[in-house]
Order: sequence, then C-alpha cells, then structure tokens
Amino acid sequence: MAEVHHVIIVGGGPAGMVAGLLLARAGVPVTILEKHADFLRDFRGDTVHPSTLELFHEIGLLEELLKEPHAAIDTMTLNLLGGRYTIATMKHLPVAARFVAMMPQWDLLDFIAGKGRKYPTFDLRMSTEATGLTYDANGRVSGVTLASGATLPARLVIAADGRRSVLRDAAQLPLEDLGAPMDVLWFRIPVPAGMDMSEVALGTIDKGGMVVAIPRGDYWQCAQIIEKGAFAPIQARGIAAFRDKIVAIAPGLAAGIDAIQSFDDVKLLSVALDRLTRWSRPGLLAIGDAAHAMSPVGGVGINLAVQDAVATANILASPLAAGANPDPLLAKVQDRRWAPTTRMQTIQRFAHQNIIEPMLRGEITRVPLAVRLLDRFPLLRRIPGRVLGLGFGRQHVQSPLAKEFQ
Ligand SMILES: Cc1cc2nc3c(=O)[nH]c(=O)nc-3n(C[C@H](O)[C@H](O)[C@H](O)COP(=O)(O)OP(=O)(O)OC[C@H]3O[C@@H](n4cnc5c(N)ncnc54)[C@H](O)[C@@H]3O)c2cc1C
Repeated sequence: MAEVHHVIIVGGGPAGMVAGLLLARAGVPVTILEKHADFLRDFRGDTVHPSTLELFHEIGLLEELLKEPHAAIDTMTLNLLGGRYTIATMKHLPVAARFVAMMPQWDLLDFIAGKGRKYPTFDLRMSTEATGLTYDANGRVSGVTLASGATLPARLVIAADGRRSVLRDAAQLPLEDLGAPMDVLWFRIPVPAGMDMSEVALGTIDKGGMVVAIPRGDYWQCAQIIEKGAFAPIQARGIAAFRDKIVAIAPGLAAGIDAIQSFDDVKLLSVALDRLTRWSRPGLLAIGDAAHAMSPVGGVGINLAVQDAVATANILASPLAAGANPDPLLAKVQDRRWAPTTRMQTIQRFAHQNIIEPMLRGEITRVPLAVRLLDRFPLLRRIPGRVLGLGFGRQHVQSPLAKEFQ
C-alpha cells in the first residue's frame, strides 16, 4: 500500500516553504511539491518586510539570513512629478530588523530550503507538479494527483500554489474576484559603471506612468505599471517607443535603457486581487496567494503569505505531531488571517482606484496633499511604515515551534 504522507504542501513559494520549515521543525513530516526545478525565477518580488524578518528572529535564523546579499531600506521615497518625497519610515518599529530587506526571492527560498533539509521530516521535491486532488469515500480530500500520473495520499493537503492555484479550483472553494486595473511589465536595466543606484528612486510616477526600480547590485529589476490588457498596443508601438516612455518616467534609467533590445527582454505579469471566502474543506487548507491573491501595491504579498504560514503552523503543528485529525482546526487559520488579509486588500483596492487608475489616465498633475504631509511631518511617516512593515494581526511563532523538536 502507498505510504500516506502526513502533510503535502503544494507550492514552494514563501507560504509553502515557511509552512514546511515550521512544521518540519515541530516534528511533523511534510512533503513540499514545487513544479519548477529551481527557485530562479525573476518575477516573485524581492521585499522581505520587518514582520517576516521578525519571524526569522523568533526562530534564531535572522543573523544568518541577513548574510545573504540584500539592500536594507528603512525609509521609502517616491519620485512624483519631478520631486522626491519621503512617505514612510520603519526606523521606529518594535522589531529586531527595522527595514525592508530587498533580497532576490530565490535567495530567500534557497535559504529556507537549506534550513529545512537539516530535518528528516522535511522533504522538498522539485520538478513535481500537482494537477488535482483525490478524495476518499466520504468526499474528504485524501491526497494529490501529479503530472507524472502518480498519486500521493496525505492526511492533510496545504494548497500554497499561488494566485493561479490549481488546487483551489479542484477543491471548488468559493472565489471572490476584486478586480485589478493593471498589469506589470518586468525587465532589467544594468547600472552604468560609477553610477550610484540610489540616484533612481524605488518608485517614480510621472508622465502618466509608474516605474518601480528594485536595486539588485549591478542592475535594477524594473516594473512598469500598465493598464490591464495594454501590452499588445505597447508592443505594436515598438521597442523604441517603450524605451522612450520608461526614460520619460524615470530619466535616471536612461544610461542603461539600451539593454532592452526587444520585447523578449520584457515579461508581462498579470496582476490579480481576489480571495476565497472559504479557505478549507475537510483534508485541505489554502494559504498565501492561493487563498487571497495580492496586488504588488505596497510589496506586501510575500509577507502576508508568510504570516499565513506562521498561523498555520501555530494552529496545526502540535495536533498534527500528536496524530490528531486536523479538520476541526482548519477554519481557525482563516479566522485568524481573514481580517488582516481583507484590510490589506481594502488598502490595495483604494490605491488601485485612487492612485493607479488616475495615474494611468494621466490625471495626477499635482502632488496629493497626503504625500506632501508625509514628506513634511516625519512623525506621520511612521503610520504607513507600520502598516507596510508589520501589516495587521501579526503572528508570532509560538513557543514549541520556536524550538527545534530534536
Ligand atoms: C507583478 C507582481 C509583483 C509583485 N511584487 C511583490 C513584491 O515586490 N513584494 C511582495 O511582497 N509581493 C509582491 N507580489 C505579490 C507576491 O508575489 C505574492 O503575494 C507572493 O508571492 C505569494 O506567495 P505564495 O507562496 O502564496 O505564492 P507564490 O509565490 O506564487 O508561490 C507559489 C509556488 O507554487 C508553485 N506552484 C504553482 N502551481 C503548482 C503546482 N500545480 N504544483 C507544484 N507547484 C506549483 C509555483 O511555482 C510557486 O513556486 C507581486 C505580485 C505581482 C503579480
């Protein structure tokens, strides 16, 4: 008879990897399935916020994590209509690391995988794609089917397979689509020799467009926000017009812009904002973007996914380690994470309607009062710094989990 896996986590993103690490540390055997062969994909977002850094502090890994290459940003600035404004600070937060670590996500995930592999209870299977679910005679989820044709039985399946989750569809969990007016074009611009990266602000809004430039050592990972569905007309206007537009918005990128030779150098990332109104059914729990796809606004999606993982481990690790049926506890994860998630999605929706849409229509012609106030009064900047840095309803790793089980 096939071996029954204790917990199968589908998806090796921030939600799945952190849930896997915490459960494995608590002595719960976990098998994580990741469809890609490595974590080396560009479009995952790089922002590791103070709430996530605090989790690593709580489990004694922060110092080591911060040895990975990163840039520490404790103050957020925005270039708006030619001026530079300071809009948020994290210097006052009551945590060990009062900054956002801009760290390529593959480094973060490789780090977690390395720590997980120390435990015999941690089984990460790369190049392994789940395609659906299996059910027992009572309709309880009993495992997953794989692209290889095999099935893996499990006591509990955690769907952490991101915003296009196959498992949440297979489980027929109810989805509420909140809509998103934009998509993102994703490309790299090299930093010319001798140029200081900080000459280009992290975010620039100008000339009816917005460009985010994430510093990554010798290049900027750039994101241009475009209207949903606008990539085809942009392609039709040609690569030279695309380059001109980027430089018009963010002139600091001019020296490296020729690196964009064709639209092969530009990836389209589709943005979604949605949530399941029920995150679980017997035998299955959805977390991270699979439960609530986040927009890139505020760069908070990774951190919400990680907070879901911490809540999952806090609620389920001990019962699972003791061999108890997890089903009666699954809804508690949603109970704990629903308000923090929906509040953050409300802020993202507000930003879509009041900043992104007017910006895309070229209607931002003067600096909004809120931006001027934040720039003028340093104490006020602490409010957005706290919301972005720590989110709502922060989860702490509970004491049995903070220790290793062996
Ligand atoms: C354009 C864009 C930019 C963003 N930028 C940022 C940012 O800078 N900072 C930030 O915090 N958030 C950002 N976000 C949001 C962020 O990417 C997500 O909220 C976050 O990655 C969610 O983590 P997750 O683990 O739930 O899902 P994901 O990171 O999507 O991970 C899911 C994993 O599951 C794997 N997978 C999927 N299907 C299967 C399957 N069937 N079988 C096996 N494996 C599977 C995938 O390969 C992936 O590794 C951005 C989002 C977008 C769209």
